[in-house]
Amino acid sequence: MKKAAIGIGSNLGDSARICRDVFDLLGKHPAIFRVRFSSLYRTSPVGDSAGGWFINGAALLETLLAPEALLDVLLEIERDFGRVRTIKWGPRTLDLDILFYGNSQIDLPRLKTPHPLMSERLFVLAPLAEIEPEWIHPANGFSVREMLDRLLATDHGQQIQKLEE
Ligand code: ADP
Ligand code: MG
Repeated sequence: MKKAAIGIGSNLGDSARICRDVFDLLGKHPAIFRVRFSSLYRTSPVGDSAGGWFINGAALLETLLAPEALLDVLLEIERDFGRVRTIKWGPRTLDLDILFYGNSQIDLPRLKTPHPLMSERLFVLAPLAEIEPEWIHPANGFSVREMLDRLLATDHGQQIQKLEE
């Protein structure tokens, strides 16, 4: 059994509803266990995103699935929610990323973990710090809390606010 962290984002449609439905789906998957979820956050778009603000969250889970099999499950859920791929980093119904997969450092064309941009993204680190602040990044040696503190100390320009339940 491996522990994994998942990032979730949406900025098209009823994004908060979509994120909550995806959390439910993950919790019901037969090879995924002990799922815990962060709060949801409204976050300003990073990069080219005509669709406006995102809803983001993070989930922690344990799984029997190998990393690429877990990715396939996530990509299938993305497709089920009708994500339309247009502009890179543009509007999307649903984006699911593997942030961490145990202590693995994976560098395949279709799967890189830890997620290469996680330490620069407030919308990843803030929700993840809520549920697993002490997880150590296997490549840079910083905990999630430390990565968040370091990012907050920079001129990151990203806005984030917790959604009311
Ligand atoms: P991003 O999530 O960086 O905004 P996309 O979601 O558009 O980018 O990219 C999707 C592709 O990214 C997927 O087809 C997948 O193969 C690849 N990918 C690489 N590493 C990961 C990861 N850690 N989690 C999810 N997808 C990944
Ligand atoms: Mg993605």
